[in-house]
Amino acid sequence: MPVTERLRELMKRARREMNGNMTQLLAGSAKKVLLQKVEFEPARRTFSEQLQRLRGKYVRLNSPAKSGDALVGSRDGIPAPQKVLFPVERLSLKWEKVHRIGAGLRNLGNTCFLNSTVQCLTYTPPLANYLLSKEHSSTCDQGSFCMMCIMQNHVAQAFANSGNVIKPVAFVRDLKKIARHMRFGQQEDAHEFLRYTIDAMQKSCLTTTREGFSTYSTLKCEAMEACGESCRSSAPSSHEEDLGQQTWP
Ligand SMILES: [Zn+2]
Repeated sequence: MPVTERLRELMKRARREMNGNMTQLLAGSAKKVLLQKVEFEPARRTFSEQLQRLRGKYVRLNSPAKSGDALVGSRDGIPAPQKVLFPVERLSLKWEKVHRIGAGLRNLGNTCFLNSTVQCLTYTPPLANYLLSKEHSSTCDQGSFCMMCIMQNHVAQAFANSGNVIKPVAFVRDLKKIARHMRFGQQEDAHEFLRYTIDAMQKSCLTTTREGFSTYSTLKCEAMEACGESCRSSAPSSHEEDLGQQTWP
């Protein structure tokens, strides 16, 4: 018998034996596991006790407000807000009107971080609904830079130019006012730019009111509501002071 045939025969036999052994081994292990007698015993702690223990371990920072209750945060010992700029009841998470898809944004040179952020905000229904209502510009009297006005103009322009490409020039022009350290032409982080843009929108909303807020007022403005945030301010009298802690839902 040639060597190759002999080798093949030996290999076939080895494989058959191995398969047989493997099947036996698997059957043996499965039998051991499946036929094992499992004895149950009552739990030392009931499920409700465990839940109670977990409840004691974690503290919910932003307890949901009762229906019709604008006193968000009142359960954590901080006084109820004296002024709510944009009540949550007015917030609509759905599009109030069906729009054709808006314009695309031209990359003006490493502005992809800016374009993507602005596009996300443009297609955030609660914010877009508010901006398209032009409610902001009807009360805004900021002579110079206003992030809400920039956003409002952009969203209106984007939906008026369906199928076209527009340039986000206002954002580039005021980039340093949005985020002081960002430079046009330089690659930047989209999430960081988003945070600065939301902060700038919030400042615009608060400045527009031209009112001071008492200590521990809860400031709820359009921009923050639309982005799912609320802000508790500990600014003593001026809304341009530090906005204090921010709570996330
Ligand atoms: Zn404005």
